[in-house]
Amino acid sequence: MRIVCDRCGVVLGPEHGIYKLEMRLYADLTGSMPLISPEENELSIDELLERLADVDPSLVEEDVHQELSFTLCKRCKERFAANPLCIPLDAN
Ligand SMILES: [Zn+2]
Repeated sequence: MRIVCDRCGVVLGPEHGIYKLEMRLYADLTGSMPLISPEENELSIDELLERLADVDPSLVEEDVHQELSFTLCKRCKERFAANPLCIPLDAN
């Protein structure tokens, strides 16, 4: 089985470091649900279901929760670890 770095495409062999990157990205819903009565809550759920009726369920799920998995070479692992959020480095 051929193992390839998902970032740079180099073919990885046993002589290379092979790194696995697992990422979980999810919506923090803390505080997003207001405290309302059960009757109002049921109405809100009905409204939400109506709004979501025509939306592809996989898109809704992706918006709330994603799990990503990558294989990286040593060089790409070090680049990722040094700046995981791709924050632009100050040019000065
Ligand atoms: Zn790479």
